Amino acid sequence: MSTDAVSTGSTGSTGSTGAPRFDPLAHPPGDAELEGRVIALTGASDGIGRAVALECAQRRASVILLGRNVKKLEAAHGQIEALGGEASIALLDLERAVAKDYEELADAVIARHGRLDGLVHCASLLGTLTPIEHYDVPTWCRVMHVNVTAAFVLTQVLLPALKLSSDASVIFSSSGVGRRARAYWGAYAVSKFAIEGLSQVLSSELDTLTHVRVNALNPGRARTMMRRQAYPAEALESLPLPETLTGPYITLLGPKARGVTGGSFDCQPAP
Ligand code: NDP
Repeated sequence: MSTDAVSTGSTGSTGSTGAPRFDPLAHPPGDAELEGRVIALTGASDGIGRAVALECAQRRASVILLGRNVKKLEAAHGQIEALGGEASIALLDLERAVAKDYEELADAVIARHGRLDGLVHCASLLGTLTPIEHYDVPTWCRVMHVNVTAAFVLTQVLLPALKLSSDASVIFSSSGVGRRARAYWGAYAVSKFAIEGLSQVLSSELDTLTHVRVNALNPGRARTMMRRQAYPAEALESLPLPETLTGPYITLLGPKARGVTGGSFDCQPAP
């Protein structure tokens, strides 16, 4: 877990809504940071999402693993149980889900837990690295749908459950290319700019009206399938493991970040 470094890279530590300066890297989570909280995560089957889900369970949250691959979700579930944690699986393919799937999920969350204390968006598609001039339109639509539209719909449908919490936190996983554009990153970069925008719009709508805070968090480079796909020739050993980057996710989900909203944060200090 990355806990003790002080970030210089957080771009929005004051937040769009004027939240006080806060750097999750400077507030390492405690062992029972998420005691009693109910946290749902997309992308829980792999990479950063799975690592954050495991860490949430270790920090005593009850975890809802959202994803489309039953085998991978069951493996994550088994790991959590082996650690003595509590988890459930909810199947949701963000490319194919329809209104009924989202509504059934929201109903199940309320029926089982009575509320939701955290929602972490980690699922994403990279698409292809291609100039805009040649970008395949169906690929563009898939990436925008999974990375932006599905994240919006899931947040919207779970908002009533989040409002039933006394201290709820929504985290959208962002990226460096969603803050400063880079050639050829196409729909992925545009989707991450959109997710930063969604996070800011929602946080300013909910600020002062509710106990729901909303932030964007850039995990930075990590040893995952997505990174491998983007940089196939890169030496894997040079990349941090996802489990070393979970600290800021846990802090933003926990009580130390109460009142912090509209921020745009980083899991790794700027190089
Ligand atoms: P991975 O490729 O390792 O994991 C992506 C996750 O998204 C998987 O769990 C995958 O599920 C899920 N997913 C993809 N499509 C769907 C779908 N249609 N329905 C449901 N789930 C889906 O990515 P990372 O762990 O690397 O990325 C996590 C987040 O961090 C992303 O938002 C990414 O943009 C961001 N990020 C990552 C960086 C990195 O270097 N890795 C750098 C900066 C940001 P399945 O297992 O079924 O494929």
